[in-house]
Amino acid sequence: MAIERNPTRPVRIGNVTVGHGHPIAVQSMTATKTQNIDATVAQAEAYRQAGAGVVRIAVDSDKDALALAEIRQQTTANLAVDLQENFRLAETVAPHVDKIRYNPGHLYHHQRDKPWQDKVRFIVRQAQEHDCALRIGVNCGSVDPEKKGKYDPQDSITPMLESALEHCEFVDSLGFDRYVVSLKDSDPQKVIEVNQRFAETRPDVPLHLGVTEAGMPPDGIIKTRIAFEQLIGRGIGDTVRVSLTLPNDRKPEEIAAGKEIIDDIYSGRVRTVVKLNSQSLNIISCPSCSRVENEAFIDLAQSVREMTRYAKDHDVTIAVMGCRVNGPGETDDADLGLWCGPAKVNLKRGTEALGAFGYDEILPKLQEELDAIIARKSCQ
Ligand code: SF4
Repeated sequence: MAIERNPTRPVRIGNVTVGHGHPIAVQSMTATKTQNIDATVAQAEAYRQAGAGVVRIAVDSDKDALALAEIRQQTTANLAVDLQENFRLAETVAPHVDKIRYNPGHLYHHQRDKPWQDKVRFIVRQAQEHDCALRIGVNCGSVDPEKKGKYDPQDSITPMLESALEHCEFVDSLGFDRYVVSLKDSDPQKVIEVNQRFAETRPDVPLHLGVTEAGMPPDGIIKTRIAFEQLIGRGIGDTVRVSLTLPNDRKPEEIAAGKEIIDDIYSGRVRTVVKLNSQSLNIISCPSCSRVENEAFIDLAQSVREMTRYAKDHDVTIAVMGCRVNGPGETDDADLGLWCGPAKVNLKRGTEALGAFGYDEILPKLQEELDAIIARKSCQ
């Protein structure tokens, strides 16, 4: 299938270049504990051997950063790190990675009195000094609150778009163009719309595509395929991640899934007949990473899927997240949300917290809430 790619500029990430004229790079993120150096190196290498162009590693502490320096020595994978709320971490990680991702919506938590522009200037300087690319990663669950406040709460797309465009303009003004942008949501239709709108305004900026918290295969692959077929088929997208909830020994399946989707699109095997039924139960779950607070998370996500099968024809969204970093915010839009702590699972109905329950207590509690929602919806 002849696909005319958008004329995005080349952005080098270690020994891989993304952008127009370069193959679409597939990437993933390690889900091992970063301080477990052997396990993290093994997973990074497994991704690399499966064909990953970039491997992202979670770094949240000085000890993680020390481990990262060692991991860098032991793998040839191109490495990336996410800055969560602490933008200053850029200084510590930049010498050891090929790309740094920052989230515009997270720049409001740390040193609140400092303008975001100063924080971005700092991050860009670290990237310049250490030969790193950047990703401006906007996520539906953590959008800049000022942008969100300006628009109708039903419109989640425009604030994401505006935030990304504002940051591109600012980073451009610093004379730095070695960056890509991502605009992720757990709803594939929203991923399609926000990326299309971004690409219309900034066709020069390479896009990293992904459906966040897509969940377990096969549903997670189907959701991702829906978005990628529409976008990549129209020339939008330069690097991708398929985020799947999988145990650690199966995580390289993310790379295989990404490569297969891209191959299918380019060879014309587009399966646009696959559509998610908007009237059916939607389970979103994070792909897990080193921040997972209890190893039981993957089993919990699986059990939630099995326990809720009886509700498959009901229009209800349940989100299952592995930690407190993204769990509380990214469950807000779901009818029911679970996010894992070390010993308890926190249950939410929309934005309302319903309490924390033991791992052996949470399923009956979830079922009770699910039944109540189904009963309420059937009376409407
Ligand atoms: Fe990692 Fe937490 Fe995000 Fe899950 S929710 S991928 S554990 S940061």
